[in-house]
Amino acid sequence: MSAPLEFEVTLPDGNKFTQPAGLFINNEFVKSVAGKTLESINPATGEVNGVVYAAEAEDVDIAVKHARAAFKEWKKVTGVERGILLNKIADTFEEKRDLIGAIEAWDSGKTKEANAVYDIDECISCFRYFAGWADKIQGKVIQNDPKKLAYTIHEPFGVCGQIIPWNYPLAMAAWKLAPALAAGNVVVLKTSELTPLSLLYVAQIFKDVGFPPGVVNIISGFGATAGKALASHLDVDKIAFTGSTVTGQAIQQAAASNMKAVTLECGGKSPLIIREDADLEQAVKWAAFGIMSNQGQICTSTSRIYVHEKVYDQFLTEYAQHVKEEYKQGTMFDSSAVVGPQVSKVQHDKILNYIDIGKKEGARVVLGGEKNTEGDLSKGFFIKPTIFADVKPGMRIVNEEIFGPVVAVGKFTTDDEAITLANSTQYGLGAAIFTKDITVAHYLATEIQAGMVWINSSNDSDVHIPFGGVKMSGVGRELGEYGLSMYTQAKAIHVNLGNKL
Ligand code: NAD
Repeated sequence: MSAPLEFEVTLPDGNKFTQPAGLFINNEFVKSVAGKTLESINPATGEVNGVVYAAEAEDVDIAVKHARAAFKEWKKVTGVERGILLNKIADTFEEKRDLIGAIEAWDSGKTKEANAVYDIDECISCFRYFAGWADKIQGKVIQNDPKKLAYTIHEPFGVCGQIIPWNYPLAMAAWKLAPALAAGNVVVLKTSELTPLSLLYVAQIFKDVGFPPGVVNIISGFGATAGKALASHLDVDKIAFTGSTVTGQAIQQAAASNMKAVTLECGGKSPLIIREDADLEQAVKWAAFGIMSNQGQICTSTSRIYVHEKVYDQFLTEYAQHVKEEYKQGTMFDSSAVVGPQVSKVQHDKILNYIDIGKKEGARVVLGGEKNTEGDLSKGFFIKPTIFADVKPGMRIVNEEIFGPVVAVGKFTTDDEAITLANSTQYGLGAAIFTKDITVAHYLATEIQAGMVWINSSNDSDVHIPFGGVKMSGVGRELGEYGLSMYTQAKAIHVNLGNKL
């Protein structure tokens, strides 16, 4: 099937732009070799937003070849110059914040005003932060033997493959592109087949601000073909992935082909613990933000809430009231809406199935528990924010990642019980603790198995601070200096000074 390489779009908020639809390889938009395409579906209506070219193994190979060729020159570019280019990306995101936010909303189902534009702010912070690192990547001089000079240099890997999901298309791309480029790597990035549009628009910006051809390559494509080809490619040096745990395992296996370095950010079922002494108003606010924002499609969402038995009933009453009042549902361009549609019909059906399972398992529905069929919303993938109470260990809605606006609330009596409940999961991404007792807070933070702990908040994320999980939630870290370190490898250089000593 043949499709145009670009098409004109006018969004409901009045934004007009030309949407690229090709594969962005070597600074040009091109058709896939076999002409394969994929459709981007509007989550609020189920209609087709547009058709873009989808990469297959041969296209991945072409992108990798161009990246490899570009690396020869790119590795000679100074850190200062790389930092200037990354800051120019941040500048352009700032100038086009409204438009890029609108494209992100249109493509993914995020409400524009309450959700999508904040992702653009996060991208800006991320590009600026790593721009600052680009000229500060240094090794060490290691002194032991006077007859020897030994030092390390932190070299880029070379060609980095990056595979991102649909829940934060631009932010996940920024988290990966910015440190990789700051460290001097070249990139072939594959977007999710569900959300290809915003990053194709952004691809053009890399060319416009002056990134040389081949340094940044952005391809749309399916996981089983393009994703697999990238993860197993023999000339890709490192693969970074965000997505489900099952896919993360497949990528780790594929990466074994040439023993490429791997970082994985995968699934989660993060607990939020509310002790008897917690500030309940704050706990209610953060517990809602931690699962209902971004339609619950957050890997770190605090989707299991454990409340001390003495404040359990009061919490549930205030929590349901707060979610009902503050998390209004609507389309992406309804400026009064906070919660938009789920990204796809598949996700929508999967979540409704879990709601059904929760009911059959005997959990009590306190709020929602169904599809939203009000007016035009019935056409899209809208699910009402849902609170299940009285959940018990072993229930599937407690153990499995639902990835929607559905939370499971249970009770506990002692701190030890809370720790056991929090840790009884294969995942280990985030955890939140609400208490006024700072000593207990720190104790719980050390006992809970998670890559990130929030004391008296939930889902607090900051580009300066490492992000990532333990157990089946992933390998490695993104953001902060730790995230940067995932894009370099140390080379040790030994210089023999012993001839005269
Ligand atoms: P997914 O794993 O299905 O897809 C993620 C990406 O991997 C997509 O680009 C997809 O095309 C690609 N992919 C799929 N199969 C592949 C394969 N065999 N080889 C290579 N690539 C392949 O996940 P999703 O549906 O996009 O996202 C939802 C899941 O992602 C949730 O489970 C969520 O917890 C997780 N997630 C985790 C984080 C995190 O930071 N830990 C962030 C966002 C999402």
